[in-house]
Amino acid sequence: MGNLIFKIEEIKNNKGLKINIKPELSLFSDSLTQYSKLKDLTTDCVFSIGASSIMLEAEVEADIELTCSLCLKKFDKKIKETIEEFYDINNEEIDLKEILSETLSMMEPMRPVCSKDCHNDLIEKYSAKHAMQSQFSKLKDCKFK
Ligand SMILES: [Zn+2]
Repeated sequence: MGNLIFKIEEIKNNKGLKINIKPELSLFSDSLTQYSKLKDLTTDCVFSIGASSIMLEAEVEADIELTCSLCLKKFDKKIKETIEEFYDINNEEIDLKEILSETLSMMEPMRPVCSKDCHNDLIEKYSAKHAMQSQFSKLKDCKFK
């Protein structure tokens, strides 16, 4: 089940909706920086109907390949996030692409480190570490398409 658009009428008729979604990963190719790669994404969604809105509670689980900000090694990490969002009940449909994309960029660590022991020697040499990190964050701000 990869569809991310839900008709509000259908959710209302069914008095809510519980669904597990595995979206197409290519939809989110712009959600992460070029240092990270989305490898898997699953979402457990629960839509509940309120007086004037539909509430979405979702558990997002992503497998992301990250680049260590210290040694530049690539490593995989599973990251989970719970989101809550309200939608106007008078709208026609709910499109989850935007909220999932925002959630993914929020889930991506700013300065991932591959392991606790990575470049321990550099921690003493603060200036060297600092230089590397500011270089990395400068690169992170650039968006390549
Ligand atoms: Zn590392």
